[in-house]
Amino acid sequence: AAKAAGKDRHELFDPRLRREQAERIRTVERLRVALEADEFTVHYQPIVALRSGASVGFEALVRWTPPGQDPIGPDKFIPAAEDSGLIVGLGEWVLRRACAEAAVWHRRYGTTIAVNVSPRQLAEPYFADRVRRALADSDLPAHALTVEITEGVLVRSGAHAELALTHLAELRADGVRVAIDDFGTGYSSLAYLRDLPIDILKIDKSFMPDDPGDAQQAALVRAVVDLARSLNLTTVAEGVETAHHAELLRTLGCDRGQGWLFGRPGPPTAVSIRLAAETTVTV
Ligand code: C2E
Ligand code: MG
Ligand code: MG
Ligand code: MG
Repeated sequence: AAKAAGKDRHELFDPRLRREQAERIRTVERLRVALEADEFTVHYQPIVALRSGASVGFEALVRWTPPGQDPIGPDKFIPAAEDSGLIVGLGEWVLRRACAEAAVWHRRYGTTIAVNVSPRQLAEPYFADRVRRALADSDLPAHALTVEITEGVLVRSGAHAELALTHLAELRADGVRVAIDDFGTGYSSLAYLRDLPIDILKIDKSFMPDDPGDAQQAALVRAVVDLARSLNLTTVAEGVETAHHAELLRTLGCDRGQGWLFGRPGPPTAVSIRLAAETTVTV
């Protein structure tokens, strides 16, 4: 009977949905306070050149640690920040922090930094200017920054997609790299990929074979790597957890890998230690 009454009415009185909505509102309130109280930090995960094994870049991943609590991962609060628009302020904070911290590593080791950018940020009229300001204030050259976006952002049509494309074109003209994140989880047409203003394709972790002997899983990875290469895109595999994953990717000619095999996300101090250790010459 509830079904026949219509979806909207059903949802209005569904206690579970109401609880979830109340929870969402509470989360947004706490996020607002957290942003002012400086409860966020940025962790960094190495992106490794598969041929040499060197850390050539890092991805900035936001963390929230409310006082006296364990850190909360972005999957738990990014959706609420996104819905409420709070992501615009939070995202800019992450961008500025990441550029500032990465500038030191870039100067010393030539590494790059990748920052996740949400659809809401790309739809802001001054997004490209804010990125330029973050670069200038941290003295990080544009070519050392990659912005990671998800495919949905550009494939959707309309004014927001137009604005997003304009921002990305401006930033790319400056030298900023654009990466498509979680590639393969959305449903953009492959033909569209050819026309997108992107430089890097990040193959989603769901493509990594869970069974080393599974030829079909390996063939799928090969197909994505070949596709990206034919479009002259740099390939980065996400979720590289095993030596077998790395070996397969190397064989297929994938450029870079990111995952637990190479290193978990960690605080900036861990990055400095890692980079120093990698450049130490052992005799
Ligand atoms: P993402 O951009 O695809 O980032 C990669 C995620 O995979 C990270 O989760 C990372 O910790 C996790 N990961 C890395 N290596 C492995 C592995 O070998 N195996 C598995 N199973 N997972 C691995 P994290 O840090 O929880 O972030 C989740 C998502 O939250 C990110 O996915 C990104 O979409 C979003 N996010 C993180 N920081 C920001 C941010 O500053 N702004 C925005 N808008 N989104 C962010
Ligand atoms: Mg990402
Ligand atoms: Mg990803
Ligand atoms: Mg993701």
